[in-house]
Amino acid sequence: MPSYEFVCADCGPFEVLRSMAQASSPAQCPECDTQARRVFTAPGVALLAAPRRGALEREERSAHEPEMTTRKTGRHMPHRHGARPAWVMSH
Ligand SMILES: [Zn+2]
Repeated sequence: MPSYEFVCADCGPFEVLRSMAQASSPAQCPECDTQARRVFTAPGVALLAAPRRGALEREERSAHEPEMTTRKTGRHMPHRHGARPAWVMSH
């Protein structure tokens, strides 16, 4: 479950674990129960994920070694867990 950062006007930032479906709904501060507003710590990550991933894979094609151990994107790319993609062979 992804974590989202909110900021309370009085108590400061806090993180909330919730499902993606609830991502945009407001959260309450765990300290004072005031409604807090969402903070976007990494702007556009979700939106940029797809094109950026494509660029990375293009680099990997020439680099020859997918960095599966250092990158934590496995959740989005389950097919990369097992055998190597076909394009690795073709180059
Ligand atoms: Zn608060």
